[in-house]
Amino acid sequence: MIWGLDDLLVSISRLFAPGTCFFCRAPVATDQNWCDDCDRDIKRIKSPYCPRCGLPLPGERENHLCRECLVDKPIFNLGRSLLVYEKKSRDLVQAVKYRHQGVILRQLLNKYPCDPVSDLGEADLIIPVPLHSSRLRQRGYNQSLIISRIVFNSRKTRIDPYTLVRKRRTMSQTGMNGIERRRNLKGAFMVKKTEKIAGKKIILVDDVFTTGTTVNECARALYKGGAAMVNVFTLARVYKRTP
Ligand SMILES: [Zn+2]
Ligand SMILES: [Zn+2]
Repeated sequence: MIWGLDDLLVSISRLFAPGTCFFCRAPVATDQNWCDDCDRDIKRIKSPYCPRCGLPLPGERENHLCRECLVDKPIFNLGRSLLVYEKKSRDLVQAVKYRHQGVILRQLLNKYPCDPVSDLGEADLIIPVPLHSSRLRQRGYNQSLIISRIVFNSRKTRIDPYTLVRKRRTMSQTGMNGIERRRNLKGAFMVKKTEKIAGKKIILVDDVFTTGTTVNECARALYKGGAAMVNVFTLARVYKRTP
């Protein structure tokens, strides 16, 4: 993702323009980040969804396993996401990811307590999906760690950003299909100190669930390291309606 001058100016104007909607710049109360109209367009994931991977199932009458989970069971145990990844939520994710605006996410959670997280139950450790060290140096922060700290604020002491590492630099996955993503990430993650995770129940955290390849590859490394259970939380979930 490359941000042009316009994006930068919009970003700066938003940072210094309290009282305007983050999305449409309509006037809002100074303690709000976006207007009611835009709020209605933010698609939160609610039941019915796949009880295994959390895929939303709009129009269905009850929760049931999705086709993907029936055919090719994920490696992680349970997956849950907060938002459907589309126009508005993409802006939200990018605000956190590229502009380090955790305040936006904090407002979202304050207004709408995060139901999907309660499905994931307790965890001994909360582990953000790691960036490669060179990417971390370049960006200066890991967005998954920011998300972990905000969403799991009450369990901050259990967040561990050190034990799972990305041992090689991987290509951006935008535009890749599932097979290409799997090839790109194969063996990319490893656990540095297996004694830290052995027998532990873990919640793995990422920004966006697209095909699930990243979280599956991380779960594979964590199980190999001896984890007892790996559940997954992502801020947003790509959802394409199948015909
Ligand atoms: Zn608005
Ligand atoms: Zn599923």
